Amino acid sequence: MISLPADGESWGDRVMSEPIKYTLTERDALIIVDVQNDFCPGGALPVAEGDAVVAPLNGVMDKFSLVVATRDWHPPHHCSFRGEGGLWPPHCVQGTRGAEFHPELKVAGIHLEVRKGMDEGQEAYSGFEGEPSLADLLQSHEVERVFVGGLATDYCVKATVLDALRHGFQAVVLTDAIRAVDANPGDGEKALAEMQEAGAALATTEQIA
Ligand SMILES: [Zn+2]
Repeated sequence: MISLPADGESWGDRVMSEPIKYTLTERDALIIVDVQNDFCPGGALPVAEGDAVVAPLNGVMDKFSLVVATRDWHPPHHCSFRGEGGLWPPHCVQGTRGAEFHPELKVAGIHLEVRKGMDEGQEAYSGFEGEPSLADLLQSHEVERVFVGGLATDYCVKATVLDALRHGFQAVVLTDAIRAVDANPGDGEKALAEMQEAGAALATTEQIA
């Protein structure tokens, strides 16, 4: 129902206060980043409330004609692991329970999977560094805009969003479907600002029509 603006309120103000609704087409894809047991509470490298991204992602998955999920998929002695000189405890080792998708993630709604970090000597935060090539997959489906959610805001989500923009895709970060590591307090907020500065839009899954 449309009501007339109240005194002192212009139509412009009314429009500004309404969040944009995104209507999806076949040129849109959802990218689900690393929603794996090891990044959720109880995992080897847990992100606080990491499992909270599952419900909003499950809620919008069926609206997309293309859903791609990425997974960290490391060999047992990956260079990102502490014992190998890296920053992180061992996590998402190929074939382990920790590397599996969160059990509540609706995997039936995922069309394609990209695995990354398989090369023992190379870190891969971005889904665009995985196999098969995410850029090729998106281009072959004539995707123009990607919506990105998952874990974690300040690492793999950020790297994936920045790479999407570099490859010429529009990118929308789903703010209710991401959580940050926040190794330093505020890292998540900083990552959001960085993604916005690079040209990404921020929206919630509620804004997807
Ligand atoms: Zn990793």
